[in-house]
Amino acid sequence: MRWTLPPDQVPEAWFNVVPHLPASMEPPLHPATRQPVTPDDLAPLFPMALIEQEVTTAPWVDVPGEVLDVLRLWRPTPLVRATRLEKALGTPARIYYKDESVSPAGSHKPNTAVPQAFYNKAEGISRLSTETGAGQWGSALAFASALFGLECMVYMVRASFDQKPYRRVMMETWGGQVVPSPVDDSASPGSLGSAISDAVRDAAGRDDTHYALGSVLNHVLLHQTVIGLEAKRQLEMAGESLPDVVVGSCGGGSNFGGIALPFVPDPSVRLLAAEPMSCPTLTAGTFEYDFGDTAGLTPLLPMYTLGHDFMPPSIHAGGLRYHGDAPLVSNLVKSGRAEAVAYPQGKVFEAAITFARTQGSIPAPETSHAIRAAIDEALAAKEDGEQRCILFSYSGHGLLDLSAYDDYLHGRLVLEA
Ligand SMILES: *Cc1c(COP(=O)(O)O)cnc(C)c1O
Repeated sequence: MRWTLPPDQVPEAWFNVVPHLPASMEPPLHPATRQPVTPDDLAPLFPMALIEQEVTTAPWVDVPGEVLDVLRLWRPTPLVRATRLEKALGTPARIYYKDESVSPAGSHKPNTAVPQAFYNKAEGISRLSTETGAGQWGSALAFASALFGLECMVYMVRASFDQKPYRRVMMETWGGQVVPSPVDDSASPGSLGSAISDAVRDAAGRDDTHYALGSVLNHVLLHQTVIGLEAKRQLEMAGESLPDVVVGSCGGGSNFGGIALPFVPDPSVRLLAAEPMSCPTLTAGTFEYDFGDTAGLTPLLPMYTLGHDFMPPSIHAGGLRYHGDAPLVSNLVKSGRAEAVAYPQGKVFEAAITFARTQGSIPAPETSHAIRAAIDEALAAKEDGEQRCILFSYSGHGLLDLSAYDDYLHGRLVLEA
């Protein structure tokens, strides 16, 4: 019930979905001129290698050897069949999950933090700035920065900075510096959008510093395709051909994209993104050009958005509280190639508890959105009497989210939010 690959089987090229998209991508626009952004516009923030990956149409992009060496600290990650969960649900479906929680930072996010740190170091940058919500991305980048000898400055959403000290301690343990955001308004609880503004301002103001984004952009989703590429091979080892449905929780889209994009060329495979009802970007947002941050400093991206000044309620799945969504994921949803579903957090924690009491592992609240969707797919298969194959991304563990479990177990969580 568990399929592993040896370290020399980490994919040596990332999968680029762009040549396989059902509709062509619209370009990002300059925030002032509203003309397509040029590589020169982005050069103060990103290394040229990542700017090239942002626009490449090559079907595969080689993974540098130094990046493979670091990814092999925990990759390939296991593929696990959730047989005990299947039994508890009484479903004829086969449920598999790709366990991204085994990375040093405890989520899928180091898959892109490592190449981003590598390319910045290779182009002579000595310091990175970034934002973090609950701290998953900030800890991934602090970890990667430590391995490549970079300084790492993290602007952490103030509500999380005040309430969730352990992720901050992880970042500091890896040598990162962490400050609450917004920096200019200590009364505001902050949002991912405003923390991005702080981090972009920092990088734009210093020659030694670049900015790193943990989700949304094409190059981030490209790096995350190692998840789906490994899963495809492991499903074959498990005797499966293709899954019927691939599920991922979706904040900015890198986790969902990472597991789903390698299946885009397989038309029989349904792709399903799970998001919170309180921040329903794909299910209730509009598709239009919008800024990636609150202050309007980033390029305008063609995406589903709730508006760049949207202030999501402070639900526990901090990693899913983003007003927009990756242009690649938005493209797939708009064209009908991918579907989306939204859940209130009561339904999400109910699924998390079912998973913990059958499979044992305690999932991150973000991950539990995918577990909810996978369970609902398995129950639908039971209803229809069909032996479907379901694959989902177990994007992170919940061992630093226990206060949310405490709230749920003791009736303090707003179930409908
Ligand atoms: C950040 C995060 C997500 C959401 O990832 P996106 O790339 O922003 O969609 C999901 N699960 C976990 C555990 C996370 O940390």
